[in-house]
Amino acid sequence: MPPRARPPHAQVHVRGDGTFSIDFYLERDDRFAASFAHGHATMVEALRQKLPTANERPLPFRFSRCAGCGFLVFTSRDPGERVACALCGASFTTAPLDGEELAALAAGAHEAIGRRVVSCRGQVLHLLVQASAEALHEPLGHVCAGFGFAPAAADDPAVRELLDGAVAHGALDGAARWSAWRLEVADDNPAYAGAPPPHVIRLTEWLRHVDPRVRTASG
Ligand SMILES: [Zn+2]
Repeated sequence: MPPRARPPHAQVHVRGDGTFSIDFYLERDDRFAASFAHGHATMVEALRQKLPTANERPLPFRFSRCAGCGFLVFTSRDPGERVACALCGASFTTAPLDGEELAALAAGAHEAIGRRVVSCRGQVLHLLVQASAEALHEPLGHVCAGFGFAPAAADDPAVRELLDGAVAHGALDGAARWSAWRLEVADDNPAYAGAPPPHVIRLTEWLRHVDPRVRTASG
């Protein structure tokens, strides 16, 4: 495959649900954070013009190595996604890289766009799920279990508090059936401070595949 692009370069990946992720191909020099911030603002604005209803998926950017050319792509995609490298054309699977130097670069880049990244390890997540039809209640439960969530007790104080808040805000119907789920995060999955953790974002997306009108509340 002939080379297609040269750094700096960015590519947007729009999903079926209208959310998008961005792959950045940037040199890892002392201009990295500034170049990322400029590219990010440009891409988000371009998307807003082109697809006004699209939203950036709120997942932090991480480095993954292209298996073809070895370039470290800074991407907000999920681990395990297939990406066609914009530089060499090879197809590779995202596998976030760790290490102090990359972590420092990533932290500086996020800071440059006003976002703080936190680890979700040890957090206890709760999710309430309300199907739009009785027949979908069980399939939605299978999805939650498949994502590692376990049923939570209906009288768990955290569940009650979440339910009361969700009903008060109209996110859930207090009179309809709901199920409660919990997950204690055992890995270092990064999330944006103040945004839902990746576990909840991915699970909610899958629940919407099964039931586009599903109602959820998380905390
Ligand atoms: Zn490549």
